[in-house]
Amino acid sequence: MAESNLHQQQFHKALQREPINCGRDGCPGPVEIQDLSQVHDRVKTFACICRLCGWQDQVTGHEQLTPPWDDTALLDMAYEHLMHQPAICPFDGTTVVFTSRPNPRRRAKYLLSCFYCGRQAEMDWPPQEARR
Ligand SMILES: [Zn+2]
Ligand SMILES: [Zn+2]
Repeated sequence: MAESNLHQQQFHKALQREPINCGRDGCPGPVEIQDLSQVHDRVKTFACICRLCGWQDQVTGHEQLTPPWDDTALLDMAYEHLMHQPAICPFDGTTVVFTSRPNPRRRAKYLLSCFYCGRQAEMDWPPQEARR
């Protein structure tokens, strides 16, 4: 459990482009983060490379698509987004990315993606419940 938490933390840092510590004791880095993912990857992969000592590591999400986000989870995420807060995947604590979709009927639509577990969902915007 502790190990997977550490792994998730590393992944979150890479996703947010936060500084990652070099894996070698006492090495001050800096560690460069490269996004190795393809455009359509549901789960992202990052390479971490220390510019100073050449230490390398890869951080990848852990695909897990079931169970999907339920309505409560989706509404929570929509609410966070409305409040300009980061929306968090309830399964792994990863920040969910909102991507706007082309919309033929002029209604906004978002694709929600968690790049750690690969869960995705489409949502009309604003969500119905929030319009009341
Ligand atoms: Zn280093
Ligand atoms: Zn997730």
